[in-house]
Amino acid sequence: MAREPGKPGQVETVTLDPPRPREVRVKVASAGVCHSDLHLLDGHLDADNVPVVPGHEGAGIVDALGDGVRDWVVGDRVSLCFIPACGRCPTCEAGQENRCEPGLQASFASRLLDGTSRARDAEGSELKQFLAVGCFGEYTVVPEQGLVRLPDGVPLWQAALIGCAVVTGVGAVRNAAGVRPGDSVCVVGCGGVGLQVIDGARLAGADPIVAVDRSESKLSVARAHGATHGIVGGGTRPGREVRELTGGGVDHAFEVVGRTDTIRVAWDALKPGGGAVVVGLAPRGTDAVLPALEFLTAEKAIRGSFYGSGRPRQEIAELAQLSLDGAIDLGRTISHRAPLEDLEPALQRMRDGVGSRTVLILDPELAGALPQPA
Ligand SMILES: [Zn+2]
Ligand SMILES: [Zn+2]
Repeated sequence: MAREPGKPGQVETVTLDPPRPREVRVKVASAGVCHSDLHLLDGHLDADNVPVVPGHEGAGIVDALGDGVRDWVVGDRVSLCFIPACGRCPTCEAGQENRCEPGLQASFASRLLDGTSRARDAEGSELKQFLAVGCFGEYTVVPEQGLVRLPDGVPLWQAALIGCAVVTGVGAVRNAAGVRPGDSVCVVGCGGVGLQVIDGARLAGADPIVAVDRSESKLSVARAHGATHGIVGGGTRPGREVRELTGGGVDHAFEVVGRTDTIRVAWDALKPGGGAVVVGLAPRGTDAVLPALEFLTAEKAIRGSFYGSGRPRQEIAELAQLSLDGAIDLGRTISHRAPLEDLEPALQRMRDGVGSRTVLILDPELAGALPQPA
C-alpha cells in the first residue's frame, strides 16, 4: 500500500471490513501492474489519493457476499471492472457505461459506491481502494456491479489483464476509432495497453499497422502481436517517418503513452481526414500541443478514450471468450510475473521502459498456469 505520493509503497497487513449490502469480497488470484498504478504511486495523480491500497486490474473468486447480492455465489470466477456502472443513469443508457456517473465518481474517489472504503490499516484508519478496486492484496471488497462473470476455462491471470489493459486497448480501436478492415493504423507506445491496441487493430482487419516505440525489443513484441511495421525512436521525428512509410499518413493513430511529444507523434502520423485517439494516461498538468491550422487544412481530429469507450463489463466477458478461443494471445503480453513483495521492482521496470507487463500472482493455484518467460 502507499501512504505518501512519490514514496515507495510497502506490504502491510490490511484489515477488510465485511461486504456491505450489494458488495462482494473477492479472493484475488492475480493482478496486473498498470501504468495508472505507477502514476498513483509516483504522485502524478491527485495528492488526496493516499493512503491507498493500489491495484485495479485483477481477477479472483467470490469469497463472501453482502446482503442483497443475488447474481453471485461463493466460488464464482470473476474479473474486476473498475467502473461499477449502475446501468440506469443517462450515460449508461447512452451506452457509455465506462463513464457511468455514480460509477465514475466512486472510482475516481478510490472508494466504493457509498463513498466509504472497506480497507483499514493496523490503527483502524481508512485506506482508500484505488479506482474502487484496490486489488494488490490477497482479498478485496468491491460493489457487485464491479464484477464480470468469466467463461469457464479462462485462466485468472489472463482475466486480470482483460479487466483493464485489454478492454482499454481493444475498446479504443473498436468503439473510439471505429477501425474498419483495410484502415491504416499507427500505435505510439507498445507497453501493456499499446499491445492490446495492436491486437484490436489486427482483429479489426487494419493494414498496415505501424508500431512506434523507443525500444527495439518492444517493437519485436509488437510485431508478434500483428504490427506490420516498426519505427524505433523518441522525440517527434517518428510522425514524419510514419507518413513517409505509409505514403501520406494513417487513418487512425493511437497514443498509448500519455506525453506531450507522443501525442504530437500520433497527430503527425495522420493523413488528411484522419483521427488520433489518446489512450495514454498523462500526469496532471501535461498539455497536448498541436498545430491548430491542421484542424482546417487537413481536417484532422483528435479524441480521448477511457476504459474502452463502451460497456466494459460486457466487453471484458466477450474478450475473455476471445482469449479462450485463441484470438488474443495474452501469453505474448506479459513480460514478468512476480509475488506481491516484488511490486517495487515491477514499477521500476515501467519507469525504465523495460518489459510490457508484470502480473502479480497473489494465489498461484487460482491464477492458473502461466507461459514460461521468453
Ligand atoms: Zn489500468
Ligand atoms: Zn450509470
